[in-house]
Amino acid sequence: MKLDQQRDEMLSLLRQRGITNQAVLQAMHDVPREEFVLASFRDDAYADSALPLTHKQTISQPLIVALMAQVLELQPSDRVLEVGTGSGYAAAVLGQLAKEVYTVERIGDLAITAAETIRRLGIRNVHVRFGDGLKGWPEEGSYDAIAVAAGGDRVPSALFEQLAVGGRLVMPLGPVQDSQKLIRIRKVGEDRYKEDDFGGVRFVPLLPETD
Ligand code: SAH
Repeated sequence: MKLDQQRDEMLSLLRQRGITNQAVLQAMHDVPREEFVLASFRDDAYADSALPLTHKQTISQPLIVALMAQVLELQPSDRVLEVGTGSGYAAAVLGQLAKEVYTVERIGDLAITAAETIRRLGIRNVHVRFGDGLKGWPEEGSYDAIAVAAGGDRVPSALFEQLAVGGRLVMPLGPVQDSQKLIRIRKVGEDRYKEDDFGGVRFVPLLPETD
């Protein structure tokens, strides 16, 4: 089956599974996932599954990328921080929906490859940095939205600090990989938060910088 046919099937699955935001569906249509997966997985680029990257990391399942983008309620003027660039795919999707995206990756090779893919595709509003995403990217904050693409017990405090009042943060929260929940936290005042649960998910763990 051709890739564009597979992409249409992915889009109907996303609609069936609760992705209703038209801008998110358009972004999922427009960003070529096949450019972000390893060459050997190109034919599977639009299957609704996570796929392997190098360094034991994965490119997230399309449904989860779309769900995270949807619950962030992005506006075209928003500045977004992503922790965990991986392939750069989710950052590219967020880049279609927001003004600027700043994404941090702790594995140097992945950061380099993602930055190359993004440059090759002519995407100019997605900025990749190699470093520890637990610290956020303070120089470019504050952010209207923060997506954490790896799981952990709690939200790193630096990320809370870099979230603007009115901003939204989405992150898989939970003690072990099997019992994470996708949680959205809305910063309603300097020290006031509102939390919503979007159900069970499974992500690789958020780890401190190593390289
Ligand atoms: N959003 C990615 C998938 C991310 S998988 C995509 O669309 O392809 C999670 C990524 O988070 C991995 O690449 C992992 O290396 C990275 N990561 C884990 N802990 C991190 C940290 N503290 N700072 C930055 N990146 C981190």
